[in-house]
Amino acid sequence: MNVYDAGRIADLLQRSHGMHVVSTPDSADLIIFNTCHIREKAEEKLFSELGRVKKMLERRDPVGQVVFAVGGCVGQADGAEIFRRAPFVDLVFGPQNYHELPRMLEQLADGGRRLCAIDAEAVDKFDALPETGHRGPVASVTIQEGCNRFCSYCVVPYTRGREWSRPVADVLEEVRVCLDHGAVEIQLLGQNVNAYRAMDDDKTMFDLARLIREVARMASVKRIRFVTSHPADMNDDLLQAFAEVAALCPYLHLPIQSGSDSVLQAMLRGHSVDHYRQWAQKLRRVHPDMTLASDFIVGFPGETDADFNDTLALVEEIRFDHAYSFLFSPRPNTAAASMTFQVPLETGRRRLAILQEHLNRIQLENNRRQVGRREEILVETTSRLGSGMVMGRTRGNRRVNFAADPACIGQMVAVEIIEGLPNSLRGRLV
Ligand code: SF4
Repeated sequence: MNVYDAGRIADLLQRSHGMHVVSTPDSADLIIFNTCHIREKAEEKLFSELGRVKKMLERRDPVGQVVFAVGGCVGQADGAEIFRRAPFVDLVFGPQNYHELPRMLEQLADGGRRLCAIDAEAVDKFDALPETGHRGPVASVTIQEGCNRFCSYCVVPYTRGREWSRPVADVLEEVRVCLDHGAVEIQLLGQNVNAYRAMDDDKTMFDLARLIREVARMASVKRIRFVTSHPADMNDDLLQAFAEVAALCPYLHLPIQSGSDSVLQAMLRGHSVDHYRQWAQKLRRVHPDMTLASDFIVGFPGETDADFNDTLALVEEIRFDHAYSFLFSPRPNTAAASMTFQVPLETGRRRLAILQEHLNRIQLENNRRQVGRREEILVETTSRLGSGMVMGRTRGNRRVNFAADPACIGQMVAVEIIEGLPNSLRGRLV
């Protein structure tokens, strides 16, 4: 979502100030750090990066003409405190306030100093944004922001605010513009995307499944994905959409966080391990090629060895195709930060290493199982593996590198998978 927001900020400043994105900070007049607050490490990285970039620019610009701005969830959570830790920062704004940047830049030009905007609603922002300038085969469109679930470890309800769904007509209009600009894959984004609920102009209620069907009706849409979903907000209509909507890719990122019911309860996740297990089974029944991804937190307060072993057992049972795993990071204002029975750091680190060993092994085994398959690949970009190579994704969201003319970027091609690697596949153009 931060990548999406950064693109919209660029659209906005292009319209208001004729600005364009440059490739290195030392050729910029305005530097925006669009931040994440989900883990402590991300927040600390902001301050070290601010210092590093500031020092680099001082060599070029000793009088300090460059404007520094901090946006995103650290901006929202820390507000004016950022000016104390990094006094050269000029602007601070939250994720729902970036539409105010043009006004803030005007105020700064008129002599204003240390301006902070952190109190708008998502609806204000979307009403003020210009048409998306997105170009390229894969386009993200935010359809929902914020969250009402208040998992006990999570800052999202405090930084992105309460759940809000973007009106159907706005979503469809942005999808249409992206398609006109050459997109063939649409990714619908939300912090809790399957909680999407909004009216269309005829006062008909749309949930995510209905919205997906509407997007799929647009002629040039070849692929649709959505991220990130909550297990308690899954429903049968969404399941049916995987069976019936040809453009909906068989890929679901469905975080579980732990394989222990007592830890899930302490996390206030609102679902059990068995509920998750049933959804994983239903999804694989409805679409045998379903790629399932998840998130895990280890070392949550009170997590015992037995709880952790339950997580390992679940990982072996579900055999996730991909997963993000993290050590618990206490975040300000969240219930988990003040819970007793915090797990010692060393124990948490040891558990994380063990979990990642399991996840990586299974991911590699699953990737190797793809060898010999013929896949439809949407070619997204040139490959980091060198010239003459391109990178695309399968419908199941696996990355595939293969030799091809870069002229095929943006097209669907048929590729035979010839090798399964830890994080990607190698293929051969058919
Ligand atoms: S559902 Fe996701 S975004 Fe919402 S509070 Fe829980 S972890 Fe955070």
